[in-house]
Amino acid sequence: MNEAGKISVIEPSRRVPVVAETDVLVVGGGPAGVGAAVASSREGARTLLTERYPYLGGMASGGMVLVIDDMMDGPRQTVLGIAQEFSERLERIGAAVYPPVEDRYRADQELWNKWARWGAIDLYAHGRMKPITYAVAFDPDGWKRVSNDLVRDARVELRLHSWFSRPIMEGDRIAGAIFETPEGRQAIRAKIVIDATGDAAVAAQTGAPIEQGRYFITLVHRYGGVDTDRAIRFEIEHPKNAAALNSEAKRLLGGSWDMWWLLTPLPGVIWCNCPHLRGYDSTSVEDLTRAEFDARAKIVSTFKFAKENIPGFENAFLLDVAPQMGVRQGRLLQGEYVVTAEDIQEGRWFPDSVARGRDYFTPYRALVPKRLDQLLVAGRCYSATPIAQRSSREIGPCVVMGQAAGVAAAAALDAGVTVRAVDVPTVQRRLRAQGADPGDVPPTAAAELVTAAMGRGAER
Ligand SMILES: Cc1cc2nc3c(=O)[nH]c(=O)nc-3n(C[C@H](O)[C@H](O)[C@H](O)COP(=O)(O)OP(=O)(O)OC[C@H]3O[C@@H](n4cnc5c(N)ncnc54)[C@H](O)[C@@H]3O)c2cc1C
Repeated sequence: MNEAGKISVIEPSRRVPVVAETDVLVVGGGPAGVGAAVASSREGARTLLTERYPYLGGMASGGMVLVIDDMMDGPRQTVLGIAQEFSERLERIGAAVYPPVEDRYRADQELWNKWARWGAIDLYAHGRMKPITYAVAFDPDGWKRVSNDLVRDARVELRLHSWFSRPIMEGDRIAGAIFETPEGRQAIRAKIVIDATGDAAVAAQTGAPIEQGRYFITLVHRYGGVDTDRAIRFEIEHPKNAAALNSEAKRLLGGSWDMWWLLTPLPGVIWCNCPHLRGYDSTSVEDLTRAEFDARAKIVSTFKFAKENIPGFENAFLLDVAPQMGVRQGRLLQGEYVVTAEDIQEGRWFPDSVARGRDYFTPYRALVPKRLDQLLVAGRCYSATPIAQRSSREIGPCVVMGQAAGVAAAAALDAGVTVRAVDVPTVQRRLRAQGADPGDVPPTAAAELVTAAMGRGAER
């Protein structure tokens, strides 16, 4: 095998057909990309969304990450807009479960027993027993369906099976992108491009400053046929035995969160947000290939152990393994502002805040690359340090960050200015009109009191 870069071939230049021209081109149809495309189209911009796979959702469908969290600052919901629309639409089709209002923000044992295995615990709260929070457990196929519905209802043009390969550059301005497709290479011209690929695939190719983040990766999987009531009862009635069995399962996994399995809206189906796979570069073909084999070996041995030893798992079967490796962090834009760990931990407010996550704010400048024109970056590859991104990349916050990018793109087009020069108060006002909370109002003394009472530092 060649060491990358030692041997190369020259690609001959060739003509690429332009298959579409649009105002706003969104690359990547995960939570951020759908948020961006729907928001931009609702603001009246001609919007085209492209996705490499045959379905929308990114980590929330193909990666089988199945809880929307980080939407609350204590008892106050900060992540609204299209993220909340996702929750409501998922619930309407029977694809979501979350604690009712009367069960939230209380930390008693009975409620904990009821909701902990749904992942609806406020991990950022202080205290031994964390309170119940508003977090939404959902079904991955439901996420695909809701993404399709949102995109269709907003009249976004959609092209699946389109793998971004190269940006079209005119000097320092991006003017579209080239995609690998089942029909060969195709070009799409656009006035503005939003990179929502999760890995800053577009920004990296434009030469924008990038930091290569590195964090553990996970091949999420699901078991079916689990008697979940019996499994939970066993944990409550025999905590010591259960702890020993769970600890062995986690040893076989080679690393996991405290709860290695969580409930899903499907009866008898659990999702396993594990194993933690360390030491892999999430943008390396060779590493991702090795990780797939490493993960599957761990998944199979843990499943065998659970089925043979854990009460409730006797009739379990391995239902499926996520088609996409779960990548929490890859390339990160280093844009006009780079969000720091302190910004996140202290919940620092920015006058140009355009999106909320939990108790932190995202400034518009963190979506804007240095120097380059007409490109925005949204989602888990936004401009942050690797440590800051670890605790500011959950599904809900990524949806509304995308929503902010989409609204900003449309506002720039309306004003005839570049995205760098867009009037941020206008973007904030239009986001509010769309039902989002851009975080434009500085935290009030009351909100600060609530925030001060909460702890910070958890990650998923
Ligand atoms: C294992 C794991 C567990 C997690 N747990 C939680 C949790 O419990 N709760 C929570 O809220 N969040 C959780 N997260 C975080 C959350 O899932 C992600 O941060 C979030 O989905 C990021 O959204 P995104 O749209 O920025 O990126 P992604 O979800 O990665 O979407 C990017 C999209 O772009 C597409 N794309 C990429 N490259 C190209 C290309 N070249 N051409 C065309 N399309 C492309 C991808 O196919 C994908 O559809 C977890 C993440 C992981 C990996």
